[in-house]
Amino acid sequence: MKGRVLIAVGLGVPLAAVTAAAMLIVLALSAPAYVPDYVVRIVLPTGTAEIGLPKVEGPPDASRPLVVIDAGHGGHDPGASGQHGEKEKMITLALALALRDTLLADGRVRVAMTRDDDRFLALEERSGIARRLKADLFVSIHADASESPDATGATVYTLSDRGSDAVADAVARRENKADTVNGVKLGGKSDAVTAILVSLSQREMRERSKTFGALVLREGTGAVRFHTDPEREAAFVVLKSLDLPSALIEAGYISSPDDARALANPAWRKGFAKAVASAIEITLARTTVATAVP
Ligand SMILES: [Zn+2]
Repeated sequence: MKGRVLIAVGLGVPLAAVTAAAMLIVLALSAPAYVPDYVVRIVLPTGTAEIGLPKVEGPPDASRPLVVIDAGHGGHDPGASGQHGEKEKMITLALALALRDTLLADGRVRVAMTRDDDRFLALEERSGIARRLKADLFVSIHADASESPDATGATVYTLSDRGSDAVADAVARRENKADTVNGVKLGGKSDAVTAILVSLSQREMRERSKTFGALVLREGTGAVRFHTDPEREAAFVVLKSLDLPSALIEAGYISSPDDARALANPAWRKGFAKAVASAIEITLARTTVATAVP
């Protein structure tokens, strides 16, 4: 096999794999006269496999409400960077772990993390974990960055109305297969009725998300410094999972030296975790009461 390239490609791989193999063959054929001996092995995902679900921690009682905590970024996606090389992905993980520990110490709700180490997850995988675990609340933790050194403080984002029609359509398509949206059976209903049900469900989820956001601000007063405009709405992909209330918290600006110092301080993180944990517990206590009433 001297001077040849052996290309090994697994069977049953999707078109992208065949394309990749074809490109490698073209590269091999167009390579200069000297080519070293080696084997190119291409390990390809099937594209259909779902990632494994994380463990659920806390009280062993499955009727207890469940919050999924999402530490933003991770792995090859570092997120934003601070002036002294701080990485957002490490700050979000530290904050998420502090929040988990606080919730577990309180023992009122069950907790699952989308990641508890430095690994990459696609955005859809994050909200997908919450959906698959049938979580009651999804909280994604990030740290902001801005060109302006004056930008400081935490912000709570919920999903905006803008673009919600496309989301409604997508949810409707997906949920038509699953037959329910938030427990409402859709089987046999027309697309128009389905769209109305999904739209109502989304509105309710948006309201509950905003109520949670307001609680984060209330519980955080004194412990967390908030941005001057701390409650905002945006079309975050990670929040486009309106089967459950969700929010994205930017804990502070990694680009601000003051905020970066706070974010790196375990005592500050504890205060942040306490405030957010309290907002989560109040929200989920209300959820439990609401679902317990016939
Ligand atoms: Zn981020």
